[in-house]
Amino acid sequence: MYYVSTRNKGDKSTAAQAIARGLAVDGGLMTPEVLPKLSKNALGSMRDMSYQQRAVYVMNAYLDDFTSSELSSFAAKAYGGGKFDAKEVAPVRRVDGNTHCLELWHGPTCAFKDMALQMLPHLLSASLVKNQEEKTVCILVATSGDTGKAALEGFRDVDKTRILVFYPKDGVSAVQQLQMVTQEGNNVGVCSVAGNFDDAQTGVKQLFTDENLRDQLAQRGFFLSSANSINWGRVLPQIVYYVSAYCDLLRDEAIQNGDKINVCVPTGNFGNILAAYYAREMGVPIERLICASNSNNVLTDFLRTGIYDRNRTFYNTLSPSMDILISSNLERLLFALTGQDDGQVKSYMAQLGRTGQYHVGEKLKDKLARVFSAGYCDDTQTKAVIGRMWKEHRYLIDPHTAVAFDVLDQYRRETGDETPTLVVSTASPFKFCDSVLEALGENRLAQGTELIDQLSQVTGVPAPAPLAALKDKTVRFTQSTEKERMVEQVLEMLR
Ligand SMILES: *Cc1c(COP(=O)(O)O)cnc(C)c1O
Repeated sequence: MYYVSTRNKGDKSTAAQAIARGLAVDGGLMTPEVLPKLSKNALGSMRDMSYQQRAVYVMNAYLDDFTSSELSSFAAKAYGGGKFDAKEVAPVRRVDGNTHCLELWHGPTCAFKDMALQMLPHLLSASLVKNQEEKTVCILVATSGDTGKAALEGFRDVDKTRILVFYPKDGVSAVQQLQMVTQEGNNVGVCSVAGNFDDAQTGVKQLFTDENLRDQLAQRGFFLSSANSINWGRVLPQIVYYVSAYCDLLRDEAIQNGDKINVCVPTGNFGNILAAYYAREMGVPIERLICASNSNNVLTDFLRTGIYDRNRTFYNTLSPSMDILISSNLERLLFALTGQDDGQVKSYMAQLGRTGQYHVGEKLKDKLARVFSAGYCDDTQTKAVIGRMWKEHRYLIDPHTAVAFDVLDQYRRETGDETPTLVVSTASPFKFCDSVLEALGENRLAQGTELIDQLSQVTGVPAPAPLAALKDKTVRFTQSTEKERMVEQVLEMLR
């Protein structure tokens, strides 16, 4: 099976090449040429498997240059060994008769990025061996919070890899900063950058294009790569949990095999919901995909009108991981729905780059409408939902998850569609203690990591162990830099 660029189908790679390359040379995204289908009894036969076994089953269908035993070993390292605090890895919790919540935050950093970033390093490291790459890969990350920590945990002590994370001094919460500067592992580095997220991101982008740096690193046996959410090695592990959730609903007799479900996903870069689309294409009986946004509602407008327009006000919201105006992974959906029309996709992306917008025709708009619904929710509503879910169900949710619950509510009121629905929960509420405490009506908030204890005391819900343990960890990284001097930091950290 081959992977092709969404902007040029002639550019073909094996899975291992696609994962090692990350992005196609023309800027397109490497995407499977053909989507595999689940066999007729696949879901039934996966019903009683562990999460790790389901992961091997699903990933096998996409990675024909990897053996099952390789994949089993990756799944054991990524999801076993006590890394997740739930033995189901991604448990499904019943909220009411036809609403179920897929909790994707039981991993080491308490956010859904762990689901993919625990697996990607193993896929990448093995891909490098398959491609006979002799150098060590150095992953560079600019982070606004969650991704950096999840990448550090995922790559920590993985063979033939190094990871360096740059975070903005003025752009992450106290808890997020502490999570990063206390990172353990022998192949990790963390450095703050003076300024905001854009400064850190611009700085990292410049590192990637710095030929002098590349030459110097090559002499030391390193090459640079990224772990961002458009890498196929991040999308694939996300397909697994949709298949797994359906199997759990079967096992728990919440549905019968073949019953349709809807899925509602809090969305930013479109990676998570795209994985649900691929699961649907594989044959998981998913009827509708409901795309939930915060006030940065560029996707709501696109899915409703067929016009993608990033020329709009950017809002900093209570659900910061969804504060995005360019949803990169949408490109893969366009590729699929145009019947893999690479020229058309290339033209949309060129228009987006030039004018900040593109307009898909009626035909594509109809295709989108057959599968997707969309809605959005502002901060006031987000807090109200957190409060209501706690009061009515004693279920504590984070602001990203709250956006999804609200959009599902709107969808049900508008359509009367009562299909059993899986709401995707993307972060532990303990990652966003201040917003959650305010939503519960607390107006005297503690400082820093004490917020974690406060939320636990107010609700009686125990904090996840990795967050509760933060206050006793040793700070390992105190480096900081100006964005113009990041090259020196990289060279220093890669001695
Ligand atoms: C990254 C993230 C999202 C958005 O997921 P996409 O795949 O980018 O759409 C939502 N919630 C949380 C908590 C996240 O970290």
